[in-house]
Amino acid sequence: MWLGVVLSAPAGALDRGADGEFGQRSSAHFELYQDVAIDRAGGIYGSRQFEQQVLAELERAYDQLDAYLGFRPEGKVEVVIYDPAVFDQQFAGAFRFAAAGFYHGVIRIRGATALDVRLSRVLHHELVHAALDAAAPSYALPAWLNEGLAEWFEARTQGKRHLNGPELALLSSAKSNGALFSLASLSTPSFGHLNQHAAQLAYLQSYGMVEFLANQRGERSLREFCERLMRTRNLARSLNHVYRAGLDTLEALFVAELG
Ligand SMILES: [Zn+2]
Repeated sequence: MWLGVVLSAPAGALDRGADGEFGQRSSAHFELYQDVAIDRAGGIYGSRQFEQQVLAELERAYDQLDAYLGFRPEGKVEVVIYDPAVFDQQFAGAFRFAAAGFYHGVIRIRGATALDVRLSRVLHHELVHAALDAAAPSYALPAWLNEGLAEWFEARTQGKRHLNGPELALLSSAKSNGALFSLASLSTPSFGHLNQHAAQLAYLQSYGMVEFLANQRGERSLREFCERLMRTRNLARSLNHVYRAGLDTLEALFVAELG
């Protein structure tokens, strides 16, 4: 999820925890701040173990990012782990659904007792946003590509290579209902303006489009495409170079493949 302008909280890491204090620790590529109120809660949230799990998972995702997409942030990425109640209080208004974490200049995580698959996927997803932001800070990627790459990476690193049956069915039905978005309309900086129903389709369509690109010339083509796009910041030329077609043509081919 890329919140864009939805969130009014400052992007700096050191806004207030439950009692305004954050502890700090770091790993090779991440600087982690955690609400000390979680520590004082001791066994309730098991924070030390949770922090270590989050850092280990982020380092794993960092290595996978290079392997799958060929880029990774140069500097350390900041991560803030919140007491769950503080997270809900500060950020609940920014979401239309319960979020385990999100990226907005720093990766913010809702504290928990243990890392689960859902949070692992969130960490992989948000790391793509952080890496794209670090690689090209002043370049506003179209949301379909920013979210599509993040969705593809979080699925692919879980071993999921393709859209599943329900996902394909949802896209096919949207196509026959004339409800599919045009990629042009998904080229805003974020999907923050969409309601939950529309956002679900927008994320899925973005994921589908990136998966379609990966299928055109193999997964390795995404690496080449990302590298070229980050370097040139020219979407049309990067697509033409790697996929031998413009966005309109590729979009039409993708839609044609849907049942
Ligand atoms: Zn995202």
